[in-house]
Amino acid sequence: MIEAVGIKSWGIIDWDGQKPLLIAGPCSAETPDQVMESCRGAASQGAHLLRAGIWKPRTRPGTFQGVGKEGLKWLADASAQTGKPAAVEVASPRHVEDAIKAGIQVLWIGARSTANPFTVQEIADALSGVEIPVLIKNPINPDLDLWVGAVERIAQAGISRIALIHRGFSTYKSAPYRNAPMWQIPIEMRRRYPNLEIICDPSHICGNRSLLATVSQLALNLDFDGLMIETHPRPDEAWSDAAQQVTPDQLGSLLVPLIARHPESTDPEFTANLDALRYDIDRLDHEIIDLLARRMMVSQEIGRYKKRQDVTVLQLNRWSEIFESRVKSTIDAGLSRDFASEFIQAIHNESIRQQLNVLEDEGHS
Ligand code: PEP
Ligand code: MN
Repeated sequence: MIEAVGIKSWGIIDWDGQKPLLIAGPCSAETPDQVMESCRGAASQGAHLLRAGIWKPRTRPGTFQGVGKEGLKWLADASAQTGKPAAVEVASPRHVEDAIKAGIQVLWIGARSTANPFTVQEIADALSGVEIPVLIKNPINPDLDLWVGAVERIAQAGISRIALIHRGFSTYKSAPYRNAPMWQIPIEMRRRYPNLEIICDPSHICGNRSLLATVSQLALNLDFDGLMIETHPRPDEAWSDAAQQVTPDQLGSLLVPLIARHPESTDPEFTANLDALRYDIDRLDHEIIDLLARRMMVSQEIGRYKKRQDVTVLQLNRWSEIFESRVKSTIDAGLSRDFASEFIQAIHNESIRQQLNVLEDEGHS
């Protein structure tokens, strides 16, 4: 378990724990005026922390790569003007040094850097002995261990003020998203690091404005602590990520209807009803486990017959038939297609394991 200090006690971000913690500002710093306007707008909509990309990790060369070091001063000025701390992405020891020198108060590690342990280690080494909070984005690929590894490297450098940012995972054609959210990964991260706050970045998950509100609410439904949303005074003219940025006013309209949920409630009626339903769930889960165990005993019996006749454990025709019919029944019962196929495959894999054990364990017939 890493020693982590929650954002409320970072002493930098003025946040009372009321969700969502809001991080806003432009994708990239472009000009001094644009940074000031974006940050003023973000602050007026309640942003607790400002953001702006200074060095931009762009997929293709020949696109805008960020204004570089001079933008740090613009952001520091916007921070001083609004009274809000500011964060930038760092991808090298030089970025760390320049950002700290310019008085930037929070750093974040971008998704491409988290995917590269060499880069993360170089950043960690540069942070050794430095007192600054670090936000760690998930790696671009859906690899939980890379995310965990980045947290460990930064923590080992002595940084205790760490939070996580979930920005989705790039996959080939991940429509309707730019980066598929794969919520089970941030949920597992939260289980592993219950002390670290986790912030959702709907801008990079969505890649366009239209889905931002839905994904933001989904994140709150899943008990995320905060949101990072890119804001720009004239989004369509933005030098990077134009399609996903919103004006400060649009940010405001997006935030108003959001419902912040709590992981617990003390209402006695709610608690009693929930307990009753959970009792049913516990009973049903045990019934499911019992049924599966009985099913596997039948599989073992089949294994014994196959063994006597030297028949293969895998019989492709039978498997295809089972797969199609059971997936259909599961979907007809109102469950999702993804669940249906994973569920049937899991049962079949276990059935094969059981039959292979019969072949190996029970000697020659
Ligand atoms: C960003 O926040 O502007 C950015 C480049 O994000 P990511 O590392 O998530 O792609
Ligand atoms: Mn961006």
